[in-house]
Amino acid sequence: MIKVKKRKILLLPGDGIGPEVINEVKKVIKWLNTKRSLDFQIDEDLVGGVSYDKYGTPITDEVFYKALESEVVMLGAVGGPKWDNIEFSKKPERALLKLRKELKLFANLRPAICFKQLVDASTLKPEIVSGLDIMIVRELTGGIYFGEPRGIKPIDNGERKGINTHTYTSSEIIRVAKVAFELAKKRKNKVTSCEKSNVMEAGQLWKEEVQALHDEEYKEVELNHMLADNCSMQLLRNPKQFDVIVTDNLFGDMLSDQASMLTGSLGLLPSASLGAKNKDGKMRAMYEPIHGSAPDIAGKGLANPIATILSFAMALRYSLDLDKDAGDLEKAVEDVLNDGLRTKDIAEKGKKEVSTKEMGDAIISKLK
Ligand code: NAD
Repeated sequence: MIKVKKRKILLLPGDGIGPEVINEVKKVIKWLNTKRSLDFQIDEDLVGGVSYDKYGTPITDEVFYKALESEVVMLGAVGGPKWDNIEFSKKPERALLKLRKELKLFANLRPAICFKQLVDASTLKPEIVSGLDIMIVRELTGGIYFGEPRGIKPIDNGERKGINTHTYTSSEIIRVAKVAFELAKKRKNKVTSCEKSNVMEAGQLWKEEVQALHDEEYKEVELNHMLADNCSMQLLRNPKQFDVIVTDNLFGDMLSDQASMLTGSLGLLPSASLGAKNKDGKMRAMYEPIHGSAPDIAGKGLANPIATILSFAMALRYSLDLDKDAGDLEKAVEDVLNDGLRTKDIAEKGKKEVSTKEMGDAIISKLK
């Protein structure tokens, strides 16, 4: 058998249900290696609370450099009550922020897909969400979460003042907008750009730069501008009007959480965080489910591995250029749902539930 690819994948399972869901991805990778002649080189290490427990830091330099050298980083989840009261800079979540920031992962892709088999899991009416397929592109390394000056300082009248600064440069806007236009070209060819250009100068710049990029390079893609508050309302009123939504860090944080709930379960939704492409067309990227470490169900075999498996499908598509394998994996997930297999989080009352491992095995058996 001829081996055709050799790609480095770093698995960082993390805390809580992280190791359980990443284990199912590991099985998928091993299956692809053996059955499809792919030669993924897997490495695995500690991040988050487990790293703090062993090394006193949520991410060691060694793991950080491994991430720098890997084409794909697959993260499970970090955090949990055990680490709630440790010093802020040592908290498990700091590892995630460090990875996103230092790897310069500026574009966060969060699809919100409502599988027709699970339409009843959404709080919205079936006709509003059935067949929903939106991609939210959130700017991840700029805006108000990173802007300076920031802090809390005393002021003259004895009060304190909390300060955060919302800034964007043209290049920060253009690089994330490009990601959105490129994605739209492979989907329904429509981008909605969201900001608050009516009340924020940074929003006005955002709108102007996205429009200028569109006019110069992406005329064939349909572009709409929408105020972020209207977008929030439209996501509930008529979410199927959207294809790709591109927005800044703060609005993206909220709109993507809102969109995720249209689909019913946190256990189903993947995400990708992408950096810039280098001269060889390669980019840094991290893939992770949108859910957290779910301490309430950790170690019980109840976690739904689908979000993590679909995150790996995104890695196959966006980092590894293996569109067919990505599509097959997504189809295997759909097939398993069609067969009625459900982990506890998506099961109807009284119906049979399968474990994390059983769900992973069933998805692999569909790949065959
Ligand atoms: P959570 O996403 O961990 O859990 C919320 C609820 O959803 C829980 O009831 C949980 O059981 C359920 N759930 C989540 N994922 C599931 C899955 N795959 N299958 C079945 N059920 C699932 O959010 P939380 O409880 O607010 O946070 C728990 C910890 O995770 C906190 O320490 C938080 O800081 C951390 N967190 C980490 C990340 C990350 O690593 N990216 C993201 C969010 C929260």
